[in-house]
Amino acid sequence: MTQRVYNFSPGPAVLPVAVLKEAQRDLVALPGVGMSVLEVSHRSKWYTDIQKTAESNLRRLLGISEAYAVLFLQGGAVLQFSMVPMNLLTGGSADYLITGSWGKKAYEEAGVVGRARIAYSAKDHKFTCLPTDGEIEIDTQASYAHYTANETIHGVQFRRTPQVGDVPLVCDASSEFLSRPMAIERHGLIYACAQKNAGPAGVTIVIVRRDLLERAPQSLPSILSYRTHAENDSKYNTPPVFAVYMVMLVTRWLLDEVGGLEAMAARNADKARILYDALDDSECFYRAHAQLEARSLMNVTFRLPSEELEKRFISEAASQGLFELAGHRSVGGIRASIYNAMPREGVQALAEFMQRFRQHYAQ
Ligand SMILES: *Cc1c(COP(=O)(O)O)cnc(C)c1O
Repeated sequence: MTQRVYNFSPGPAVLPVAVLKEAQRDLVALPGVGMSVLEVSHRSKWYTDIQKTAESNLRRLLGISEAYAVLFLQGGAVLQFSMVPMNLLTGGSADYLITGSWGKKAYEEAGVVGRARIAYSAKDHKFTCLPTDGEIEIDTQASYAHYTANETIHGVQFRRTPQVGDVPLVCDASSEFLSRPMAIERHGLIYACAQKNAGPAGVTIVIVRRDLLERAPQSLPSILSYRTHAENDSKYNTPPVFAVYMVMLVTRWLLDEVGGLEAMAARNADKARILYDALDDSECFYRAHAQLEARSLMNVTFRLPSEELEKRFISEAASQGLFELAGHRSVGGIRASIYNAMPREGVQALAEFMQRFRQHYAQ
């Protein structure tokens, strides 16, 4: 297969074709360098410039001030489930808002490091909804409060930043990072693995308010301390050179081709509307998982009348060039991930397929 299909994978996920072509062109010999991006030293001027550009692109796109450090780390978002409490939970306890599987995991890992408390859980609602501000029970003495901006598996996404008073707010933004503007200054720390929306797997971006860097205990191994990485420009050890280079290309694409995050957010809202309309107009043949006000613009999750039909839906879709539509193995159903690089035509093709499928199989 050499033709590109429409890839609805939740991650690693679709990347902009223009970015892939540029990487392909540079893969054997970088212009002016004569080496591949895979061969170049992380101490070279070329790589130093690439990382600086990736960082300044992120600062421009998200409006990140110098009060925050931007780090490029390895270990995925899941390592952050441990690094966040190791660095920030120094006595007392931390609050967790649990709106899906990832937040639950983050909470459990924090409990390995110290004391973690549940400030809100949507478990009794099967992770279909979000808290109102009144439903969040924040401990005003908490070391921090953690939430998951977009729950990738359940397809629920915060519309706005939760209110937690003066407690430093920590956000797992993995599966919506760079899909829309963010209120950076409302947060103490934001982290996101790249492979949903910002690049390939291998790098995780951490945006951390510099005063919080002082919290890490001296006893923490250097590699696990944000302070180490901030003091060493994310080059304490070899950074994931290729992944950072790809983040540079993706952020440049967002700035130059898309026109920034407001424009990206408008495109994403338009794409999501096409799919949710297809669900809502289906006379309950397709049933959205998330409640209306919690619906994710990144991961559209829904069910069909039977598991049998869901299996058929996934295989017939694939035969028409629409791939990776199976829901997470823990919840089943259908999930269409429609990140930044999913073209509108792909979403439209899926909506049209959904209509044909329903007409064929609805009773
Ligand atoms: C994908 C994802 C993770 C896990 O990221 P890894 O890079 O596999 O560690 C964590 N949180 C959210 C919200 C995700 O979407």
